[in-house]
Amino acid sequence: MATEYGLLIDYEYCTGCHSCEVVCQMEHGLPTDQWGIKIAEIGPWHIGEDRWQFDFIPVPTDQCDLCATRVAKGKKPSCVKHCQAAVMTYGKIDELAEKMLGKPKMVLFTPKAAGK
Ligand code: SF4
Ligand code: SF4
Repeated sequence: MATEYGLLIDYEYCTGCHSCEVVCQMEHGLPTDQWGIKIAEIGPWHIGEDRWQFDFIPVPTDQCDLCATRVAKGKKPSCVKHCQAAVMTYGKIDELAEKMLGKPKMVLFTPKAAGK
């Protein structure tokens, strides 16, 4: 898999439902203690008056191959397809980077090169 493709993660809308973790494990036959993507739960902490900061941030791991087998068949990566909040977008890195302009709470993931 060339590294010109990646995942744009718009974590502002992540609910922490963990569905992406499970569908990734199922897609790749991973045991329950290994992940292609893992949700980091950050917070909560008090940021004033009745406001609390609490973020869920999906973090793809070295096990993520951007669902190369699915993509080769013209399908979306499993986490992209199954996230109800449409947090993940798959595409070319330069096109994904353009989508980040003016939008807060996004991260761009590029996968580990095959064989490295
Ligand atoms: S990225 Fe989507 S599927 Fe994964 S925990 Fe967040 S809301 Fe759920
Ligand atoms: S793109 Fe595929 S391999 Fe990567 S985190 Fe999503 S489901 Fe897992």
